[in-house]
Amino acid sequence: MRNDTRHVHPPAPDAAEFESLVPPVHHVSTVTFDSVAAFERRHDRLYDGYSYGLYGTPTTRGLEDQIAALEGAARALVTPSGQSAIVLASLACAAHGDRILMPQSMYGPARAAADRLLQPLGITTTLYDPMIGEGIARLIDRRTRLVWVESPGSATFEVQDVPVIAATVHAAGVLVAADNTWATPILFSPLAHGADISVQSLSKYASGHSDLIMGSAAVRDEALFRRLKDVSRMLGLGVGADDAFLCARGLKTLPLRLRHSGRSALDVVDWLLDRPEVLQILHPARPGHPGHQTWRRDFSGAAGVFSVVIRRVDAGVLDRAFQALRLFKIGASWGGAHSLVAPSDPRKGRTDLSWLPDGQLIRLSIGLEDVADLLADLDRFFAEISTET
Ligand SMILES: *Cc1c(COP(=O)(O)O)cnc(C)c1O
Repeated sequence: MRNDTRHVHPPAPDAAEFESLVPPVHHVSTVTFDSVAAFERRHDRLYDGYSYGLYGTPTTRGLEDQIAALEGAARALVTPSGQSAIVLASLACAAHGDRILMPQSMYGPARAAADRLLQPLGITTTLYDPMIGEGIARLIDRRTRLVWVESPGSATFEVQDVPVIAATVHAAGVLVAADNTWATPILFSPLAHGADISVQSLSKYASGHSDLIMGSAAVRDEALFRRLKDVSRMLGLGVGADDAFLCARGLKTLPLRLRHSGRSALDVVDWLLDRPEVLQILHPARPGHPGHQTWRRDFSGAAGVFSVVIRRVDAGVLDRAFQALRLFKIGASWGGAHSLVAPSDPRKGRTDLSWLPDGQLIRLSIGLEDVADLLADLDRFFAEISTET
């Protein structure tokens, strides 16, 4: 063997008697085959085996198997983002001339994709009041193929009656997809409550450290999995090996992180209840919050993301209050170790919020810091608000 060749073909490492707790990370584009016959049959391996890095490696399949087990699913697929998982599920279920239903409380960019990507492709989306329950039956027609639920909803956190919606929708022969990013399968299992597809943004709690973007779609049904996989392949969607590794690592500590964030968030809620600037707290565990009883029935706990509505103040005052925060950072992509705050105007594009008081909505994501330090930080925020007369 000459020198150039030796650079490309090093000796294979001896891995005999090597064992570890951590799986190797497979960085792969090309998969190789041991015969021409195996190469020519490589497409048979699309759903289970390995034929091309984009279609799966032991690293991404390992993560998918891990997610499927946590979701109580037969199969799961990872995608480059939560947003792509939502669009993928919609495209796998609906085609030109079909109709999709989405709650008004659904993640904003998902509603934007319905409007600006699906609509031009001939897939119409109708938004519905998340508290609709069995009233969903009135919205289903011959063209309806998919009903989305997101519970609790983005920014306003209404808890939907997923079992009732799923039973009603299934009676019409239509599929149900759930965005379960807030709860993760630890706090709520969409598939066990009637959904056909459970989608998560893994960028949030699952990976948990604000350092990667990924999504997943999990299903009970092999045929539905194959439809998702086919659309994913046609779109050329795939995830990188290092991100898949980091996400699998994050999942190991997810139960502990989620428990901590959820508990700290309830401490923050208790503290906020005593602030005179607070008009309402939008948290599923609050009695009187839309869907609170459903949350008690269907969920095993609460995550650490919720919103608070405070009385309206001058924009300059609000700005100074956010500037006074030292630990809470202003940011959108929650679920990491760091606590975040984000102002939001949920009324944009929604007609179902008559129950919401008129004020400034602020979403909080409670991270892994000591809650006493977080309360001291929020005290600095409210000190700025309360000095305004
Ligand atoms: C963040 C988020 C998404 C989108 O996830 P990305 O991974 O950022 O694309 C979807 N749904 C919900 C509820 C989210 O919070």
